[in-house]
Amino acid sequence: MSIRSFHPPVRTLMGPGPSDVNPRILEAMSRPTIGHLDPAFVAMMEETKALLQYAFQTKNKLTMPVSAPGSAGMETCFVNLIEPGEKVIVCQNGIFGMRMKENVERCSATPIMIEEEWGKPVDPTKLEAALQENPDATVVAFVHAETSTGAISDAETLVKLAHEYDCLTIVDAVTSLAGSPLKVDEWEIDAIYSGTQKCLSCTPGISPVSFSERAIHKIQNRKTKVQSWFLDLNLVMGYWGNNAQRSYHHTAPVNALYGFHEALVILQEEGLENSWQRHAHHHNALKAGIEAMGLSFFVDEEHRLPQLNAVTVPEGIDEAEVRRILLNRYNLEIGAGLGSMAGKIWRIGLMGFASNETNVLNCLAALDGVLADMHADIQTGQAVRAAKGVYSA
Ligand SMILES: *Cc1c(COP(=O)(O)O)cnc(C)c1O
Repeated sequence: MSIRSFHPPVRTLMGPGPSDVNPRILEAMSRPTIGHLDPAFVAMMEETKALLQYAFQTKNKLTMPVSAPGSAGMETCFVNLIEPGEKVIVCQNGIFGMRMKENVERCSATPIMIEEEWGKPVDPTKLEAALQENPDATVVAFVHAETSTGAISDAETLVKLAHEYDCLTIVDAVTSLAGSPLKVDEWEIDAIYSGTQKCLSCTPGISPVSFSERAIHKIQNRKTKVQSWFLDLNLVMGYWGNNAQRSYHHTAPVNALYGFHEALVILQEEGLENSWQRHAHHHNALKAGIEAMGLSFFVDEEHRLPQLNAVTVPEGIDEAEVRRILLNRYNLEIGAGLGSMAGKIWRIGLMGFASNETNVLNCLAALDGVLADMHADIQTGQAVRAAKGVYSA
């Protein structure tokens, strides 16, 4: 055997995640590993919690990173908040809402589905009708930023409605955190989960979560044990909680958490509102270029995510071949459509560190060139100039 060290190619990540990782984060992760109960590590954990409270705009005490990817944050919310036999309203407008349904069923609860056309936001009037028809529902769950379609839903309104009918709320903020306005306390969200590899530009594998007092009350007064030992917050709180005698629950991913801490420091330095604005700004430049090419967006303008741009593939073009050329010739990764959108859209991410002028201009130039070579029906040579117009305005 002569297998050697792995050296990945250097890519530009403009897909649905992971996004380009800030080199400061990679450097932080290469610092010496210490024990996860070392007082120095515990002090860093406390800072991480405070930084994460800022990112989520919350004072929730139970705000922490779950030691596993976004999907585990999702599962943490569902298994802790839902007991067998309960009714849960799931608003679905893309792939991730489908996964919420799976989670509800695996909690031995009944999902009540509100389905929306892909590319559209969740419709509050449909949620209200479902709440009226199901007075025994206990939880409402929805995705704030649907990464599969690029649509954002009005989280504040949906949460308010759920509370009017005495339901707790579970919100997927994997793609929205740091990319789009998100205010956990002001909007009174009860349980929220996110990811590190989207607009925080950290490495994948950690899921920040936060729970309101109302959610904690329910978790602490469950009639049944949480089905998952690892994700049972009653146990995890012993490690991440504020109590003096922090106890062993699992070995925290020490170096990954150095990286996460650094990602949150970077966000604090930039300022949350500035980060939201930067995502909007580069989206506007990309949009000008995409439209100058004659291509269109899948989602209506007012519900469009700046960090995830779903662009319609021109007639007669093999979208997978375009992505293959972008990757091989330009080291540029963009995403494909999922499910019913496969073959019909590209998903161009402008997330976190990857949301910058260089990436916007390079992506437009590369896409323009590849499509022109394929004789696509586009306006060639216009995109970069249109985007530059936005930058110089
Ligand atoms: C990426 C994503 C997830 C899953 O996160 P993983 O880290 O891949 O497990 C969940 N929800 C949404 C909206 C996402 O974009």
